[in-house]
Amino acid sequence: MNLYNIKDNSEQVSFQQAVKQGLGRGQGLFFPDTIAPLDNIDALLKMNLVDRSTEVLSHLIGDELSKETVHSIVANAFTFPAPVKKVTDNINALELFHGPTLAFKDFGGRFMAQCLASFKDDGKITILTATSGDTGAAVAHAFYGMENINVVILYPKGKISPLQEKLFCTLGGNISTVAIEGDFDDCQAMVKQAFDDQELKQAVGLNSANSINISRLLAQICYYFEAFAQLDAKQRENLVVSVPSGNFGDLTAGLLAKALGLPIKRFIAATNENDTVPRYLKEGTWAPKKTVATLSNAMDVSAPNNWPRIEELFKVKGWSLAELGYGKLSDDETKKTLLEMDKLGYECEPHGAIAFHELTAQLQEDETGLFLCTAHPAKFKESVEEILGRDIFIPEALASRADLPLLSKEFPVDFAKVRELLMAL
Ligand SMILES: *Cc1c(COP(=O)(O)O)cnc(C)c1O
Repeated sequence: MNLYNIKDNSEQVSFQQAVKQGLGRGQGLFFPDTIAPLDNIDALLKMNLVDRSTEVLSHLIGDELSKETVHSIVANAFTFPAPVKKVTDNINALELFHGPTLAFKDFGGRFMAQCLASFKDDGKITILTATSGDTGAAVAHAFYGMENINVVILYPKGKISPLQEKLFCTLGGNISTVAIEGDFDDCQAMVKQAFDDQELKQAVGLNSANSINISRLLAQICYYFEAFAQLDAKQRENLVVSVPSGNFGDLTAGLLAKALGLPIKRFIAATNENDTVPRYLKEGTWAPKKTVATLSNAMDVSAPNNWPRIEELFKVKGWSLAELGYGKLSDDETKKTLLEMDKLGYECEPHGAIAFHELTAQLQEDETGLFLCTAHPAKFKESVEEILGRDIFIPEALASRADLPLLSKEFPVDFAKVRELLMAL
């Protein structure tokens, strides 16, 4: 698989380089130089998740990794299901929260971890990442216990939910977590500073594992195929997929699945009040505003970092952005939607609810809808319980960690301390 830097097409890398490097020169994103459609979709749809994902990913990655290697990576990464559940007569939910950290980021995080472990040549690898919650948890669990790989996760102290913190700050071993006395932007700024520090980067083999890594996107393509495989012939016709979006990695993966030949009719990009993309699609100007805090906080992003890949894909495929549906939802409407869904017998959380709402608003009579449920409701326990006015079920993965001691260090916003920690690992 060859990839080029969208910002500087002369920079070309292999799949392995792209995974290890993350970003190209000038912070450019890597993009596959060919996306050949699959010619055996019907046969693929009859396979199980692991076998089908192996075929799809081998097709993309090419001879750089043997099919046996890809199969073992996939089998170690995708150890949990992605079931499709009926919500209304013509709308289904794709539940992506049955992994160890109860959010869809387990797919990408675990696939990336297995990739790095499989092509680890020499030296050590240090994963440094900033998180406002879900990414950190997925990365921590994905890399936990791996030899020669250390993980350092920075998060804003007191600004993530208590259960969320327990989920990834109680592991220990090769996972170090640091509560920073600042906000998410401070954490991210220190990660950037670390990547600009060539001496540090070399010494510890720095990698960010964030959502721009191409391996995470490739993994996410697989569950669009999985969803399609679970639908019957009628539901597969005129399928519209609604994707709750923040950094737009999930939507990029869905569009890549379509580019590979999966017959999805169209997509809807659903956001919260951080609506840079819906405004751009409507008005034609890219005008990010200051990020606002919402109920669906994993989508509180005003400068979505995967968007250039979507533009690039539309360009190379000759698609028109006018075909991409969009919509945004306020917190008040999100609460109302959660209550409506509860009445339909489906317990959801704010991110999935936004995607569901946009489907109900835009679905035509001859279409079937599918929306992505990106996290388990228990991950947003406090707000979901308040909105629904009752206690909700807390799965074992979360409940079992609630009483474990937090192992995080606490640092002020001081890069020197982070650097010292990294060098000492
Ligand atoms: C990360 C996340 C999103 C946003 O996904 P993107 O790929 O960044 O658009 C949506 N919902 C949940 C629960 C998430 O954790």
